[in-house]
Amino acid sequence: MRSVTIDTSESMGSDRTRYEFECSHCSEQTVVDAPVQDQLLGRGCIFCGRDVSERDFVREQ
Ligand SMILES: [Zn+2]
Repeated sequence: MRSVTIDTSESMGSDRTRYEFECSHCSEQTVVDAPVQDQLLGRGCIFCGRDVSERDFVREQ
């Protein structure tokens, strides 16, 4: 008898979502998680201080 283990532990967790951020103003790049994304959207780019939009974020695979 064989047992097969399928690892599905990655990719389903919602609080591990990470985003690649690239500022459309200063072109700085960094990777952030969801809470930091919220901060950036609310307070602006951490590098240049200008407004950030959701289009500046790409969800990591
Ligand atoms: Zn910037």
